[in-house]
Amino acid sequence: VLELDGIAKRFGSEDVIGDLSLTVRDGEILTMLGPSGCGKTTTLRLIAGLEKPDAGRVRLQDETVAGDGRFVPPEERGVGVVFQDFALFPHLTARENVAFGLQDWSEPDRAARVDDLLELVGLADHDEDYPNELSGGQQQRIALARSLAPEPEMLLLDEPFSNLDVDLRVEMREEVRRIIKETGVTAISVTHDQEEALSISDRVAVMNDGDIEQIDTPQQVFQQPESRFVAGFLGHAS
Ligand code: ATP
Repeated sequence: VLELDGIAKRFGSEDVIGDLSLTVRDGEILTMLGPSGCGKTTTLRLIAGLEKPDAGRVRLQDETVAGDGRFVPPEERGVGVVFQDFALFPHLTARENVAFGLQDWSEPDRAARVDDLLELVGLADHDEDYPNELSGGQQQRIALARSLAPEPEMLLLDEPFSNLDVDLRVEMREEVRRIIKETGVTAISVTHDQEEALSISDRVAVMNDGDIEQIDTPQQVFQQPESRFVAGFLGHAS
């Protein structure tokens, strides 16, 4: 679904990403795990089209969306993003938030799609609630439903659990994994939390200083770290 091929990105004189390559498979949940400042969010922004790479190519569904002189804008990439703070529209109800990206759909199709998604995230009874009437976990469910509504090829999640308290985090990890797997969408998540990476991912890419140190199943990465950095980061953070 997604291929990053020799991506580089600098801000001023700082090389944030240097020669990053990555292939994400259809239907998998891949988590990019690494310390603060290693370039995880920048990588997501490059995939979403919110940043342009200085070198290399981003390919989605075998189409080059950035690089080789091409740049496809974010709204044409078929990529949904769930932001860290959920970014729900406070003046819209849960239903209206989920419907937001479906303005081109016919009214009956839109209503049916929103009903399906509210059902999927377990909030059919809260469709008329405003975001400030919903708990943190419920807000996250609505944010997820809104991002999934236009049937994206790929979903990007930036530190999706960091705004939730600890108990809720554990519950929502399982929920988010279930919801993503039920829709079959390919997902990339970003975190510095190794437990989160272990629990939601099919594969984990450990990042250090703008590059991927190791990419494998969570079990492999945790049990057989391939570099001193990976071993140190996982050991240190636990
Ligand atoms: P965090 O978990 O703290 O968000 P991260 O791994 O997601 O970290 P990025 O947000 O990608 O890291 O940032 C990587 C580096 O790039 C940081 O040093 C940051 O200061 C720098 N950076 C990111 N965006 C910009 C920008 N728009 N202009 C200048 N520097 C930036």
